[in-house]
Amino acid sequence: MASAVGVLFVMNEFELIRQFFVEPTTDAMVRLGIGDDCAIVAPQAGEEWVITTDTLVAGRHFPLDTDAYSIGWKALAVNLSDVAAMGARPRMVLLALSVPDADPVWLAQFRQGLFDLAQQHGVQLIGGDTTKSPLLSITITALGSVASGQAIRRSGAQVGDYVVVTGSIGDAAYALRHPHSALQHRLDRPIPRVAFAQGLRGVAHAMLDISDGLAQDLGHLLRQSGVGAVLDWSAIPIHPLLAALPLPEQQQLVLSGGDDYELCLTIAPHAWPVLQEWAAQTNTPVQVIGQITAQQGLSLSCQGQISAWTHTGFMHFDSTTTSP
Ligand code: ADP
Ligand code: MG
Repeated sequence: MASAVGVLFVMNEFELIRQFFVEPTTDAMVRLGIGDDCAIVAPQAGEEWVITTDTLVAGRHFPLDTDAYSIGWKALAVNLSDVAAMGARPRMVLLALSVPDADPVWLAQFRQGLFDLAQQHGVQLIGGDTTKSPLLSITITALGSVASGQAIRRSGAQVGDYVVVTGSIGDAAYALRHPHSALQHRLDRPIPRVAFAQGLRGVAHAMLDISDGLAQDLGHLLRQSGVGAVLDWSAIPIHPLLAALPLPEQQQLVLSGGDDYELCLTIAPHAWPVLQEWAAQTNTPVQVIGQITAQQGLSLSCQGQISAWTHTGFMHFDSTTTSP
């Protein structure tokens, strides 16, 4: 879309799109990809579509010195993670890119990060928008498919369910506070749990991905399900680098730190062995960290004491929390 002041790239907008973003269509459902006013997609009978969008703004959602490859990777990863969190299969994405200039080296690395991850999951870029802007900002819209009625919502948790997480929690928040640590990749190149999530339809009662901190995100799931939970602090999987920190700092990073893109789900206790088997098949670490209760709210059991957890994760426009 051209703006009133014109799109002031050295390379024009259309050359840029052709050079960096047009790829042959591989998904037969895509009847028309990049190049027209809209893409055309032919949905299949018996399927529903999940649709989500997420924006990354430089200096806000990633440090300003983040390399272009990681930015491309992460912009896609956070969206694929949302699709996975519904138990759906990611299929197509649209990319709205606002960049300060058309630096071909930066663009080549950015598109490589994005396409490397897209190819791993057979995801097709079918359109987008490209504008010049003083601030680097990337918005990706992702579309995924799931058998009708099978998407896993946040609202299905049942009293007595186990609360389960994948991977380790708090790594990305640690990396943000400790630049160039061994956990830097956890902040820069999150790996969406797409394959694992595919096996959870009909198994998980409720699920979401952890983007804004375990306590806040699990809080959403609990509220939408009308239940509460008690978490066992000692069961939450944390990296040795975090375990070496003073306890209050550990808890802050693990419960309120964002950007992990791990999954948090609830299952009936009898489904745990099945889940463990599927996790082993998909190389996914899983851990039971607590249980769903009829009493609402989130409590934390730590060193023999149970207390209500009231701290929140990161919230935009809230001056009492800090930005990731
Ligand atoms: P319009 O002005 O009709 O919105 P554009 O000129 O902005 O169309 O874009 C031309 C085509 O290129 C469209 O198919 C659009 O979806 C696609 N496109 C634009 N920018 C991107 C991008 N960054 N990545 C992928 N496709 C893009
Ligand atoms: Mg446009």
